[in-house]
Amino acid sequence: MSQAAPTEAQHFDVLIVGAGISGVGAAHHLTQQCPGTSFVVLEALESFGGTWLMHKYPGIRSDSDLYTFGYRFKPWTGAPIASAEEIRKYMGEVISEGGLEPHIRYQHCISSASWSDDTNTWTIEATRTDTGEQLRFTTNFLWMCQGYYRHAEGYTPDWPGMDRYQGRIVHPQTWPDDLDLTGKNVIVIGSGATAATLVPNIAGQCNHVTVLQRSPTYFWTGRNANEVADMLRELDIDETWIHEIVRRKILHDQQAITQLSFTEPEFLRTELINGVRAHLPEGYDVDTHFSPTYRPWRQRLAYVPDGDLFAGISSGKASMVTDHIDTFTEKGILLKSGEELTADVIITATGFNLSVLGDIDFSVNGEPVDFANTVTYRGMMFTGVPNLLWVFGYFRASWTLRADLISDFVCRLLHHMEDKGAHRVTPALRGTDADMPILDWIDPENFNPGYLMRGMHLLPKRGDTPEWQHTQDYWVEKDSLPAADLDDGCLVYE
Ligand SMILES: Cc1cc2nc3c(=O)[nH]c(=O)nc-3n(C[C@H](O)[C@H](O)[C@H](O)COP(=O)(O)OP(=O)(O)OC[C@H]3O[C@@H](n4cnc5c(N)ncnc54)[C@H](O)[C@@H]3O)c2cc1C
Repeated sequence: MSQAAPTEAQHFDVLIVGAGISGVGAAHHLTQQCPGTSFVVLEALESFGGTWLMHKYPGIRSDSDLYTFGYRFKPWTGAPIASAEEIRKYMGEVISEGGLEPHIRYQHCISSASWSDDTNTWTIEATRTDTGEQLRFTTNFLWMCQGYYRHAEGYTPDWPGMDRYQGRIVHPQTWPDDLDLTGKNVIVIGSGATAATLVPNIAGQCNHVTVLQRSPTYFWTGRNANEVADMLRELDIDETWIHEIVRRKILHDQQAITQLSFTEPEFLRTELINGVRAHLPEGYDVDTHFSPTYRPWRQRLAYVPDGDLFAGISSGKASMVTDHIDTFTEKGILLKSGEELTADVIITATGFNLSVLGDIDFSVNGEPVDFANTVTYRGMMFTGVPNLLWVFGYFRASWTLRADLISDFVCRLLHHMEDKGAHRVTPALRGTDADMPILDWIDPENFNPGYLMRGMHLLPKRGDTPEWQHTQDYWVEKDSLPAADLDDGCLVYE
């Protein structure tokens, strides 16, 4: 493969990194709100979709409803919970309807991004993953839509004795094409959203699936349908209206549940646990396996459409074990309780490794950037880093709600810079922020999944005012982001 140095840089007004749901949305909004702006989307993979292209484990689907996980501007017309394939089809329509294809370059993996005050541009080094060719791009504005976790591999803890185990260990993020689970005994370690999706989809084929969890997760369940949408469709209402009405209804209900998790956590906890109990056989040990110790919503609630996970447990094809791993053995896993679980295949549904800004080496005027030493402006930009913005969505609401809001923000900011004749915008703490406490990216009391706790030291810092944090509150931001004063002193224009 040729590894020749790049010859000439290609320049674009805006460079979008990643063609997942955020990057494709960014490209759409840019063409609509800033027509005439030149831009390119660079994507390391061979196609669009990001998360929905990368994950190939059986049953891969959303756990958000697509009325809110879908874009604001393109109606979702299917069942609320959608497969990865359906999400990609929807994204493909956005790309073709918006004429975005010519702007996206696949198999372009970015390794470094360096900003220069002399030219007011970022210089991006990328490698063609198919040919090895080195390419250089320059851009005025870098719009980072690279997601939040490392794409190459998932997180697998280092348990004692793993090398002794004679069976196969698989992580759902890198699901092998040749894995045949027919008639096999399988252990799935973990009980989050991935396990809840995977288990009902493999249970029928396996001899037995044991879900091994250290501690229980909150689940909620319901029919994979939306009654309001179904009713409006029966009335032959336009899909654009249905999309908007159903979004508002879902967001209204979600706000109530989120508020309840703070004001009446015990009530919500009991409701969620009783919801699970109703799907399990009489006398099932719900207290051990389905009664988490944390407050609801401190971690994502895992959705079980149509109760499929519980059907697997009720039929005896799947079972739950709540215990700690002592060591892997030749045949399976020895638990702290002394019990040994045996399996032909062990699936580690143990989550992600956080990746801050795509594992790209960033520098500003020759100095490497450590994002952990920056403070975030509204969870999007970073002190001392010019003309760069990162799309980081919501935990308790669909990611895309924020991707849409941020797109509006970027387009407004680009127009504002043009009006001011500014070439550079850099967040900087104001004099009045001097005494502000500098805190971790998110308060673990608020939300504390493992990947965030493991990677918190890598993430930018936050302050204690809305300007200097990712509030994680869609219901506040839907009004505050569009109204954010671009001249309140947090953003310095040059
Ligand atoms: C299995 C799973 C299910 C999920 N379900 C939901 C859900 O139901 N609802 C919800 O709100 N959220 C969900 N999430 C979170 C989800 O990741 C986001 O909602 C959303 O898909 C993220 O989109 P994105 O475009 O920001 O990032 P991604 O989907 O991660 O896409 C980022 C893209 O950037 C590319 N990229 C990264 N680094 C580079 C680089 N250096 N050079 C070039 N390209 C690069 C990647 O290849 C990738 O294609 C889920 C996550 C997972 C893993």
